[in-house]
Amino acid sequence: MNPTNASDYIPWYFQSLDFEKLWKDYPPPPTYFHTTAKMSRDELWSLQNKRFLETIKRGWEIDFFKLHWKAHGLSPSDIKSLDDLTKIPVYDVHDIRKSIERNPPFGDFMGISPEDGKTMPLVLQTSGGTTGLPRPMLYSPQDRETMAILGGRRFAMHGIVPGDMVLVTYSLGLGNGGMAPREALWRYTGSVPVMTGSGANTPTRRQIEIVKAWGVKVILGFPAYLRHMALVARDELGIDPKSLGIRLLGTHLGMENREQLEELWGAKAFDMYGTHESGMLGAECQHQSGMHVMEDAFVLEIADPETGKILHDGIKGTVLITTLYKYGAPQIRFNVNDISAFHTTPCSCGSTMKRLVRIFGRNDNMIKLRGVNVFPEAIGAVVVEDVRTNGEFFCFVDRVGEAQADRMEVWVEIPDESLDKSVIQLSLEQRMKEVLGVKVDIKLVNKGELDQYTLTSQSSKVKRLLDQRK
Ligand SMILES: [Zn+2]
Repeated sequence: MNPTNASDYIPWYFQSLDFEKLWKDYPPPPTYFHTTAKMSRDELWSLQNKRFLETIKRGWEIDFFKLHWKAHGLSPSDIKSLDDLTKIPVYDVHDIRKSIERNPPFGDFMGISPEDGKTMPLVLQTSGGTTGLPRPMLYSPQDRETMAILGGRRFAMHGIVPGDMVLVTYSLGLGNGGMAPREALWRYTGSVPVMTGSGANTPTRRQIEIVKAWGVKVILGFPAYLRHMALVARDELGIDPKSLGIRLLGTHLGMENREQLEELWGAKAFDMYGTHESGMLGAECQHQSGMHVMEDAFVLEIADPETGKILHDGIKGTVLITTLYKYGAPQIRFNVNDISAFHTTPCSCGSTMKRLVRIFGRNDNMIKLRGVNVFPEAIGAVVVEDVRTNGEFFCFVDRVGEAQADRMEVWVEIPDESLDKSVIQLSLEQRMKEVLGVKVDIKLVNKGELDQYTLTSQSSKVKRLLDQRK
């Protein structure tokens, strides 16, 4: 071996952080439940204020924020406390894309680059598979370890306990999907992650065999895939999913029907909310009554998507994220474009952390259909509600006729070919009209026909919409 090219110093992960301090600052479970989760709102404000001011200081070191803030006339002396938060201009993914164009390939919003690997171990993951190259994100040790702690809290809130075998069906690869839960489960829950990944990583039938043979107790995945798994077990393998003894499902419910998923598996399903940029923002406790925000790590605001005005608790708007723990790529009033609202009442679990109601959909997924705002997620909720469907659907939007009027056709899978399709079609069209407030056309198709559009069996990021007007 020739050591001449070897560096004199290699940063080791386990020397890169003061772990004891981090665990005090961001208590993992179970300590979290007796400490941070029960803080008074005043104590919490002080803690958030301190971390917020540190985050602002960090922001001024990062070109993206310097440019963005100066362009909006903000100066360092304008921000004296958390009460000044609303003075800071909001930004969204378009600004991040511009940052990457300006300074490829990583942009100027992170404040760290692979070069910093000389002094701290870094890890790269990306946004989920959308079109084009995924957006990369580098994580410093502080960022990554705190994310694992927040994830650990989530899983403990759901009821995962040491010794549980946990099947992770999020995709393995560039996306953070499977990677972040693995770190959280392994380091902070005592459970054993079983990394099957999506249907493209491990065929669904094999996943079910693994659940059965290895005594898996918990499954993590997107609702569409959890439903797909249950139906493959029931209809293709002749195994009643309920007989598999799954105790709980961890998922991002959005507008999906919780009861239907629970009924299929005979297990409780818990909602959560996170992004690859921010980590685990919120998760449901045993009461399943909205997602407790990890408020020692985030300040979330709900703003009117049109005017940007901050809205009262209980009113729906777009989520603005401010991270309090991030060194690399902090987010400071990032408009993530997800629609949600805060609960107005406390949770009976005793946690003082505010709760998000649910994620109603993505603002940029929203379709304007003859003047009415329609979310594909809301269409999914109607489809799943009808037990004659298997929950699979796909929306095509186009312009038709001389008037070039907007039209949406929703294709829905009906597994039982003996059913009278015209009856189902009529009742689905009526129900859609009631729920969405606008007419959509329904076309019924056979089981499996939509997979080429949705990619349900292949990807954990299911597609639901093709807008052909663009
Ligand atoms: Zn609670």
